[in-house]
Amino acid sequence: MASRFKYALREAYGLLADIYITEEAALYANNKNNHGGWVSARKFEITHKHVESELVTSFILTPVDGKAVIAHKLGQYIGIKVKPQSAEYEAIRQYSLSQKSNAKNYRISVKKECQPKPGVVSNYLHSLGQGARVELYPPAGDFILKNEATPMVFISAGVGQTPMMAMLQTLLSDNSHQAISYLHACENSREFSFKEYLAQQTAMHPQLKTFTWFNQGGEECDFTGLMDLSVLEVSLPISEGVFYLCGPASFMAYVKGQLLDLGVQSSNIHYEIFGPHQAL
Ligand SMILES: Cc1cc2nc3c(=O)[nH]c(=O)nc-3n(C[C@H](O)[C@H](O)[C@H](O)COP(=O)(O)OP(=O)(O)OC[C@H]3O[C@@H](n4cnc5c(N)ncnc54)[C@H](O)[C@@H]3O)c2cc1C
Repeated sequence: MASRFKYALREAYGLLADIYITEEAALYANNKNNHGGWVSARKFEITHKHVESELVTSFILTPVDGKAVIAHKLGQYIGIKVKPQSAEYEAIRQYSLSQKSNAKNYRISVKKECQPKPGVVSNYLHSLGQGARVELYPPAGDFILKNEATPMVFISAGVGQTPMMAMLQTLLSDNSHQAISYLHACENSREFSFKEYLAQQTAMHPQLKTFTWFNQGGEECDFTGLMDLSVLEVSLPISEGVFYLCGPASFMAYVKGQLLDLGVQSSNIHYEIFGPHQAL
C-alpha cells in the first residue's frame, strides 16, 4: 500500500514538473522570439525621471543597445536587478509597468519604502539620476486586462495604481467608449500619485469617472476615510463590470468583501499583490 502511494506521488510530481517545464519553455520562447524580446537580464538606462507624489517617482527605462523592447501585456511587471553600494549582493525586485506599450521603453513607478527601515532597492532607485544603468528581466505576470467591451472598474490604494495606469492609458488612447470607473484610496493629497494625469483624462473623456478617498480627508478628495463602496452602489456596474484591484492585501480583502456583498461575481474580480501570491 505504502509503495503504491509513493509511486502515485512520484507520478504526480513528474506530471506537475512536466507542466511547469513546458510552460517555462513557452515563456522563454515567447520572450526570445517576439520582436524586442530577450531572455535573462538586459541593460537599460534611466532616460527620464518624474516625481508623481511625495513617495512615488516614475522612471523611463530605455535599452542601452538601442533596440526595441517586447510589448507587455497590460498589468504585467518587469524584474529589475541592481547592486546598491550599501548592499552586499545584487538585488532583484518586481515593478509593474505603468504606461502602455510603446516598443521603445518601459515606465515603472516606485514607492520609496521607508517604514520600519529604508527599503534597499526602492531607496536606491530613487537615488539614481538620468543616465544610471540597471538590468531588466522581460515582462511577466498574469494580472492582465482582458480584452472585453464591458465596463471596467479599477480600484487601487497607495502605489497599487501602477498596473492600472497602463490599463487606463491604453483604453483611453484606443478611443474605446466603455465606461471606466477609477477608484483610488491614499493617505492624503501629497501621497496621491498621477493626480494631474487623472484630472486631465477625466476632463477629456466623459466615459471616465474618478473617485478618491483620502484617509486624512481634505478638499481634493471625494470621500474621507477608508474606501466605502456603499456610497457608489448605484453608479458601479455591479452585474456586468470587470473589477481590477491592486494595493495592500488587507485593503484588497476589505474591498473584495464589499464587492461580493454588493453582488459582484467573484469571477469578475481580479487582483495583483505586490509580494508573494496569496488568496484574499
Ligand atoms: C508583481 C509585483 C509588482 C510590484 N509593483 C510595484 C510597483 O509598481 N511599485 C512599487 O513601488 N513596488 C512594487 N512592488 C514591490 C517591489 O517589488 C518591492 O517589494 C518594494 O519596492 C520594496 O523593495 P525594497 O528593496 O525597497 O524593500 P526591502 O528592502 O525589500 O524591504 C521590504 C520592506 O521590509 C521592511 N524592512 C526592511 N528591513 C526590515 C527589518 N529588519 N525589519 C522589519 N522590516 C524591515 C522595509 O521597511 C520595507 O517596507 C511590486 C511587487 C510585486 C511582487
